[in-house]
Amino acid sequence: MPHPNDPKLKSFIAVDPTSDFPIQNLPYGVFSAPGAAPRVGVAIGDFVLDLALLESEGLLKANEPGVFAQSSINAFMALGPKVWSQTRARISELLRDDNPTLRDNANLRARALLPRKDVQLHMPFTVAGYTDFYSSKEHATNVGVMFRGKDNALQPNWLHMPIGYNGRASTVVVSGTPIVRPQGQLKPPSADAPTFGPCKRLDFELEMGVVVGGASQMGEMLTEAQAEAMIFGFVLLNDWSARDIQQWEYVPLGPFQAKAFGTSISPWVVTREALEPFRVKGPAQDPQPLPYLRQLGANNYELTLDVGLRTAGMNAPANISQTNFKYMYWSSVQQLVHHASSGCAMNVGDLLGSGTISGPEKDQRGSLLEISWNGAEPLELPGGDRRTFLEDGDSLVMRGWCQGAGYRVGFGEVEGTIRAAE
Ligand code: MN
Repeated sequence: MPHPNDPKLKSFIAVDPTSDFPIQNLPYGVFSAPGAAPRVGVAIGDFVLDLALLESEGLLKANEPGVFAQSSINAFMALGPKVWSQTRARISELLRDDNPTLRDNANLRARALLPRKDVQLHMPFTVAGYTDFYSSKEHATNVGVMFRGKDNALQPNWLHMPIGYNGRASTVVVSGTPIVRPQGQLKPPSADAPTFGPCKRLDFELEMGVVVGGASQMGEMLTEAQAEAMIFGFVLLNDWSARDIQQWEYVPLGPFQAKAFGTSISPWVVTREALEPFRVKGPAQDPQPLPYLRQLGANNYELTLDVGLRTAGMNAPANISQTNFKYMYWSSVQQLVHHASSGCAMNVGDLLGSGTISGPEKDQRGSLLEISWNGAEPLELPGGDRRTFLEDGDSLVMRGWCQGAGYRVGFGEVEGTIRAAE
């Protein structure tokens, strides 16, 4: 049987070469048809394949009956990497152009394949815990230069470990959910005392999110291989950030309310297995990390990322940044190894934000803080709007994909529109 990543595979469903969802992808999500309960599905072309229905028809088994008739993929993820792989191979087989099971059964096809435009997409998994890292050297350097000057841009610890903080799982939301402008304590350096009010420096952060599909015990460290095996897949992630709230609150324990009001993710979880053909080595690490953090594998991905901004007066988003996930200094595997290194237990459904992904070039910056250089260089948009930070009514859209030969393994998009403070 051909491997599900085989570039030559074709589905009986026509898929455009620029679609994010060819048969080589098969990302998992949670959807509902009008009047029906949310359940697990897979995206293929412009359709969603209903896995709960396939299971009830006896065409798909995943060790635990009813695992797809649920409103999250957590129970499926908990079955482990062997079942993930077997399930993906079976779904691929059922969608292949040389398999008549679905292809030639019009009745079953009509029930199992729903046009994506007719269904609602939900949070694909229940977020057990959310941690956000700070692992792009270009981003950390840009921010450091802005606030501490060129000579002290990176803090002394930065090259020795993936820096992170524990975020909030409660406000991780799926693409399309409006984001209410946060309120908080503001104290510009020129003010004597703080005031409470709407954030004036609202920003996005372009990130990838790792979806952890395995668990580790309290007191247990992880090896590179164990950490990798626990990674189920990836989503696009927008770590909305209130820069002015952050500036006043972050000393000495790091971001708190500035990052707690909302984090948006894309609805489809692209599996680690589907990204396998796009693995690349990350940047050389100098100094060499401590032994527990050393990695042998090529744990980065050649994955194009694109950010669009649409103001209320624009018809379509304008591209404001295009970068690549491959630039990350610390890999997702190293982040997970470090996260468990103290004996911190990891859970099925944990979400790890990569940290803002900026590239070496000016047009590869992954936040408005960097794009507008802390407000000093306003962004000029088509139609004449200018932005230093986000205004009410602005919509931010992130896309990501790996380019194969004649197909792409993509993530769809994560969108969020800013609403006025309440
Ligand atoms: Mn972040």
